[in-house]
Amino acid sequence: LALYAAKDAGRDQCKLHTLAMDEAMQNDARMRALLDQALREDRLVLHYQPIVASADGVVGVEALLRLDHPEKGLLTPAAFFSALDHPRIARPIGRFVLDTALRQTAIWQRDGLVLRVAVNISTRHLLDARFLEDLQEALANHASVPPEQLEIEITESAPLLNLADAQSVLKSCQDLGVRIALDDFGTGNASLTYLQQLPAHSIKIDQNFVCDILDDPKDLAIIAGVITTSRMLGMEVIAEGVERAEYAALLAKIGCSHLQGYLFSRPIPAEDIPAWITRFRPIHRLEDAS
Ligand code: C2E
Ligand code: MG
Ligand code: MG
Ligand code: MG
Repeated sequence: LALYAAKDAGRDQCKLHTLAMDEAMQNDARMRALLDQALREDRLVLHYQPIVASADGVVGVEALLRLDHPEKGLLTPAAFFSALDHPRIARPIGRFVLDTALRQTAIWQRDGLVLRVAVNISTRHLLDARFLEDLQEALANHASVPPEQLEIEITESAPLLNLADAQSVLKSCQDLGVRIALDDFGTGNASLTYLQQLPAHSIKIDQNFVCDILDDPKDLAIIAGVITTSRMLGMEVIAEGVERAEYAALLAKIGCSHLQGYLFSRPIPAEDIPAWITRFRPIHRLEDAS
């Protein structure tokens, strides 16, 4: 009897497991279909979130993907995240993002607004044999934008399939003059390896780390160490997810040069960026005022 019970339990567990896997697979398939359709129907848009430097005001923007859904309105990547790295989808998305962000940067520049633009590139596209061609094509199509104004963000939470390959692609990007940022720093399991092995101009400290620095002295010490290390390596440090002025002040105090977060602005449509920048007062002036 006991044997039968154990068997049944085993079978049930197996069934549960299969159900969960089915659900995950269906979910992935749904996300894929959503992105496929958006690509076909030209329903992808980029919003832009300002990145501010404590000393100079706004230095640039990060382009963030949105999907304009016919019924649900604008969707953030949470609605299609797993599909962004899919073999068939990663490259068309990356090409769209590079082209759109550079076109927009050229328009701002024509209107007298020189901004750096950061784009998120999936590891899948980065390691695709055609990535460098895609990058060069986008730069050539928007030749008024110097490559130094483009920054490619590579997330460290996605396991890089092959460190040596990534190294060589990123080196080629650098040779083109394009900047590299290590995104979501601190979330992967090889942060220090990446920092040491990958050529990069900036690191972006993940928001989960940032929001702990006020109450956890250990997190504060780790972040302060990362900032010091990065600066010794000649890299820029950008803190993500800065929501409150207390964080901005503390981050500036421990040497973090760049900040990004809702405290300054949410990601907004391209056409709202010029007016936002006109209204923006750099942090040091905000501090002077208080
Ligand atoms: P990410 O590159 O780390 O981008 C930062 C995310 O944090 C964005 O979410 C942004 O809206 C959000 N954020 C910014 N400031 C704050 C804040 O103060 N508080 C909080 N709670 N959140 C803040 P979003 O736009 O939903 O994008 C999520 C992720 O999707 C991105 O994380 C990136 O990994 C991915 N993603 C976005 N656009 C693209 C794209 O064009 N291509 C690819 N491959 N991935 C993208
Ligand atoms: Mg990013
Ligand atoms: Mg990030
Ligand atoms: Mg993130």
